[in-house]
Amino acid sequence: MLEFISKDSVVPRRIYIVDAHHHLGADRDGQSNRNPAAPGGTFDFCIRLGSYLLKTLSDEKVDLRFQPHGFLKELLESEEKWRETLNGTWVVDQIVVFPFNDEFKWREGDEGKATYWRSNDNIYRWASRAPYSLKLIGYSRMVPHEGELAIKELHRAVKQLGLRGVKLHPRSDGWGNEIDSEPVENFLTEAAKLGVPIIFDTRGFSQVVDITSVTTKARARLARIDKRLTRQLKVIVAHIGFHLSYDELYTVLSHPNIYGEVSGIHDAGIQKLFEEASLRLKETLGSYHSWSEKIIFGTDFPYFDVHHAAQFISYVLSEDFPGTIEDAQRILGVNILRLIPPMLEIPPQRVESVHFDGSLIPVAKRILASKIAKLFSEGKLNISSFEVFLSLPPKASVKDDCLLLVKGKEGNGEHTLLMLLTVMGLGTVARFNAEPSGSKALISRELGYDDSLLRQQFYNALWPDNVEKDQSEIEKKLCALLKPLLGSESVSEEKLKTS
Ligand SMILES: [Zn+2]
Repeated sequence: MLEFISKDSVVPRRIYIVDAHHHLGADRDGQSNRNPAAPGGTFDFCIRLGSYLLKTLSDEKVDLRFQPHGFLKELLESEEKWRETLNGTWVVDQIVVFPFNDEFKWREGDEGKATYWRSNDNIYRWASRAPYSLKLIGYSRMVPHEGELAIKELHRAVKQLGLRGVKLHPRSDGWGNEIDSEPVENFLTEAAKLGVPIIFDTRGFSQVVDITSVTTKARARLARIDKRLTRQLKVIVAHIGFHLSYDELYTVLSHPNIYGEVSGIHDAGIQKLFEEASLRLKETLGSYHSWSEKIIFGTDFPYFDVHHAAQFISYVLSEDFPGTIEDAQRILGVNILRLIPPMLEIPPQRVESVHFDGSLIPVAKRILASKIAKLFSEGKLNISSFEVFLSLPPKASVKDDCLLLVKGKEGNGEHTLLMLLTVMGLGTVARFNAEPSGSKALISRELGYDDSLLRQQFYNALWPDNVEKDQSEIEKKLCALLKPLLGSESVSEEKLKTS
């Protein structure tokens, strides 16, 4: 998180940054980023970006700091290895990673499997284990023209591997002239049913036109199945900066299901994009509130490096940017997170929670973090994903509320969601037994307490009948909360102790 500390204000201004386009693996064209923690890899990129921005964004009036999000800070303080691995990377909070055209994507003997299945497994291995999972959000890669095979792989990627979106690369995978086609329409329809976003590489504006056309067809098909499904169709056009000379770009971006990602844009292009988008998207937004909801920050590392990313971030946070700080926060992080729903849909029922006085929030967090870190170091649990909740504009600020998907390594090994939140001055730690359900309260990461019926239902299920004021009570209850994660084995250990 970027924190701007103005010399005459005590409250820092915080910006949560998410990179929506980043590669992990090894391309046949020679580019590679095999290990995000290796020299020259993802984390190194973050560190270099940070030192660049320190030079350009801080001055005698404003200090710049990079901090992990609220609860992450506690977690990292409790687990030295995690802290070391991610040290210095916090200029970018989260990074969407997906395969290259990997040299290892497929081997002889893989007949009957989707082309990118090995690459998808590779992304899963990185993005689902701590500490990498605290920063990386994994997408899969597919070739829609593989038909049934691609659809099967899509289901495997989302449901088994927990990958949260899909990268499609028409040119590199040899279907650049077959974008507006039935297999792609089928694929988009299926992805929408699963609620995952699709990012398309684009070369040449005719590809953008074809993407728009096939998106419109998929939308019409979804509307015939169930009108509500149309909202789950989320298509991201990568590299919109390559298409700035086409007026139609802004018509494309006003399509209700299409968003534009900016990697590759640089120098005067950045200003041109924003001057035009802020004027021309305003008139055609439909159900969107602001033009800035349609533009998404991405780096395309390692194809583009620190210089482009730094130019873009600096511009969006400068006085030349024709928007507000809320617009900037949407573009730099909120928009992409709202397209990627938290890992699982959660029913507000079947919840166990601990509530405590607001003054005890820091203590409770420390206790929880040290327990999680200890269980991790003993090999008993893993954190497979980390989600934040960002308030809706116009308040668009970073809150400490978050959701952790935790998996016990022993015992029943099931996924469990732990939520930390503050409502009406009360601290809450809640455990949900993760079950897919129709509850939409968390999907758009809007957890502000308001009169929305869905959120009311959510909070009603969490409403405390008891507020703990005593530290040792909180500790006891947090232990009880974590226990089901550890399965039957730890229960019998406990029995041994008491007998
Ligand atoms: Zn790329």
